Amino acid sequence: MNKAQKEIMLIAQEECAEVTQAISKVFRFGLDGSHNERTNRERLTEELGDLHCMLELIVESGLVDRSELLNASGNKRKKLMQWSQIFEDENV
Ligand SMILES: [Mg+2]
Repeated sequence: MNKAQKEIMLIAQEECAEVTQAISKVFRFGLDGSHNERTNRERLTEELGDLHCMLELIVESGLVDRSELLNASGNKRKKLMQWSQIFEDENV
C-alpha cells in the first residue's frame, strides 16, 4: 500500500467504528431519538455516507476491484436471502 491507500484504510476503519456507534444509539434510543438537536437517523445517515465515501475511495485508489466488490455484495445478499428473515413476506 502507498501512503494515500494507508490513510484511506485508516479513515475507513474509523468510519466503521462511527457507523457501529450510530447503530448502537438507534437501538438504545430509537431512530427518532435526538441529542444536541440531531436525530439518530440523521447521525446514522451521516456516518453511512462517510463510510460510503470511504468505500468509493477504496475502489478508486485501486485497493479493491469494483466489479469484485459488487460481486461480493451480491453474494452477501444471496446468503441473507437464505439465512436471514429480512426478505420474508411478513418483514418487508
Ligand atoms: Mg464519520
